[in-house]
Amino acid sequence: MRISPRLRAILKQRCPLCLKGQMFDGRLRMNPRCPVCGHRFEREQGFFQGAMYVSWVLGVSYLAVLGVLAQLLLVPHIGIAWAVACVVAVHVICIPMVFRYSRVIWAHLNVRTKP
Ligand SMILES: [Zn+2]
Repeated sequence: MRISPRLRAILKQRCPLCLKGQMFDGRLRMNPRCPVCGHRFEREQGFFQGAMYVSWVLGVSYLAVLGVLAQLLLVPHIGIAWAVACVVAVHVICIPMVFRYSRVIWAHLNVRTKP
């Protein structure tokens, strides 16, 4: 299966400009600049506030899927309270991933806009 270089860079959390440098240096720590091309990831103060919108879309999307799956698979066996607890546990585990991908997607969406 062939996937576009931009989508591959988003999935691997790479620089929106050169598509090679890693955007994150730790679990939640972002590199200030691309280690390959030097692109400044936070182009201006508050640049990543827009990532909130991406985070919201990602969060609502996967929570909707988790909610439906929990309703179909878990509620008949363990009840609504434990099903909700399972969904919340999965959500808490996914928070760092949503944080990272929301910033990566926001950076890639805005790579051609001017600061
Ligand atoms: Zn780069």
